[in-house]
Amino acid sequence: MSNVLRATLLSLFGSLVLGCASPGPPAAAPTPGAPAEPPAPADLVITAGVVRTLDPRSPRAEAVAVRGERIAFVGSAAGARAFVGPATRVVELPGRAVVPGLVDGHAHLYGLGVALETPSVRGARSAEAAAAVVAEAAKARPRGEWITGRGWDQNLWPGAAFPTHAPLDAAAPEHPVALRRVDGHALWANAAAMRAAGIGRGAQDPPGGRILRDAAGEPTGVFIDSAMDLVEAKIPADPPAVRERRILRGAEEALSSGLTGVHEMGIDDETVAVYRALAAAGRLPIRVHAYLAGAGRLEGLRERAPDADAAGTAMFVLRGVKLFADGALGSRGAALLEPYADEPSTSGLLLMDREALARAARLVADAGFQLAVHAIGDRANRAVLDAFEALGPGRAAALRFRVEHAQIVSPDDLPRFAALGAIASVQPTHATSDMPWAPARLGAHRLRGAYAFRSLLASGARVVFGSDFPVEEPSPLLGIHAAVTRQDLSGQPPGGWMPEERLDLDEALLAFTAAPAYAAWAEGQRGRIAEGFVADLTVLGRDLSPDRSLVDTPIEMVVVGGRVARAPRPHRAARAP
Ligand SMILES: [Zn+2]
Repeated sequence: MSNVLRATLLSLFGSLVLGCASPGPPAAAPTPGAPAEPPAPADLVITAGVVRTLDPRSPRAEAVAVRGERIAFVGSAAGARAFVGPATRVVELPGRAVVPGLVDGHAHLYGLGVALETPSVRGARSAEAAAAVVAEAAKARPRGEWITGRGWDQNLWPGAAFPTHAPLDAAAPEHPVALRRVDGHALWANAAAMRAAGIGRGAQDPPGGRILRDAAGEPTGVFIDSAMDLVEAKIPADPPAVRERRILRGAEEALSSGLTGVHEMGIDDETVAVYRALAAAGRLPIRVHAYLAGAGRLEGLRERAPDADAAGTAMFVLRGVKLFADGALGSRGAALLEPYADEPSTSGLLLMDREALARAARLVADAGFQLAVHAIGDRANRAVLDAFEALGPGRAAALRFRVEHAQIVSPDDLPRFAALGAIASVQPTHATSDMPWAPARLGAHRLRGAYAFRSLLASGARVVFGSDFPVEEPSPLLGIHAAVTRQDLSGQPPGGWMPEERLDLDEALLAFTAAPAYAAWAEGQRGRIAEGFVADLTVLGRDLSPDRSLVDTPIEMVVVGGRVARAPRPHRAARAP
């Protein structure tokens, strides 16, 4: 275990060791000389090849016993037998590994449900190939109904140029079509969509956005950042029943990826209402720590209060607000301190200027909410850290304010995360997805503070991992793989990209468990396997090792709040040859 990890673990669990309120029931003191009372039977006992507890006092165990929503025992298989009663479900999983429930610290669960229901053009190798997917979707819906989708990436296409509306017009002339880029920061529309949105040659670029145009000044069909609203505002809203179906689809997908919880980054009040109804009815199978989307809701925050969840057992908690300081690197919307190396005429866009960010941070802090701000470029990261600092000493730390992505950070600003107590919420798979083209955007000199997970951790910052699904695949094992190898799925580059920024396995695991628990005020309740903690558990088909085997490690079983959310996979009994 590295010193950095040990320090992080101690800072995460120090409050417990120092005797803060223990979540478990007080243990009865044994009477000297009397035989020990057998403990009350557990509801569930799991024995496995290894239990990785992430508890620095006893990092490895063999078995876990669960009573109700909480862990009643962690230790040896023999010790767990005392918890087996007539009604106890006993699950024996030799060779498997139990870890604390994996939590995606930055995801879009509702967005995943939407993505699962809408045509995906992800991975398409040309604009025409993407348009062919749209043509297929158009056959299944009435004329005039919107076709929305996402996933295109012109960097995968011949010439790597942004597309025009023409291929989409050919594919679906009578359906308005609006497709988000894979990073969510650009929209590709057809002529019908632009007509429906009333966009013609006279349309103005909105603040924080750009309409791409041809040589004659006609919009080409691609809208960057806030200009996407010009089209998307015309798409009819989804009714609650559709939202519910999408949330549940997204949750099933997340569970099958081994997740017990997600931090839902930016949803509207209509989606919040659907989440609340699902949680109240006991129908939400995964824990959701949610953030309201958008600067438009800040004034109204004063009239509402963040949800409280002292026990750490709520399935849905709304406690934060998500804002955007800039766009993404792929579409050159990330705000950089110096111009793009591969397009010197631009240094990206700040979606909120420094005053707006400072004002927003104050409004959110005064209302007692947690602020999470998307910042990709080094200029955006600096502006957000400045806004946090302007709140006064200790304020951002006390409210656990977060920077989402913290992707390109000036080396001068790197120590400020720890100094301000700002959480760095980063996505290891973004590093391996972006590595083929990020150096061209940034130039070698700026790479030093880019995707710098090891540097952030070593600086003392709290580092939370997520996937940003559906931007990336939901599997946290892919994130752990990217963080520990810094390689893509084909093992490139040899030795890893910027290998000095690799984490070790325990550090990566911590960033998907205890660290998101801290970011959700649940570090005394969730994020490790210890007696009294909430029984959120992920069981993997084999123990983790820091190599390619991570990506095809099966998810064996998922337990959320003591409830088996995904049953163990059926196994053929071992047979003698
Ligand atoms: Zn996101």
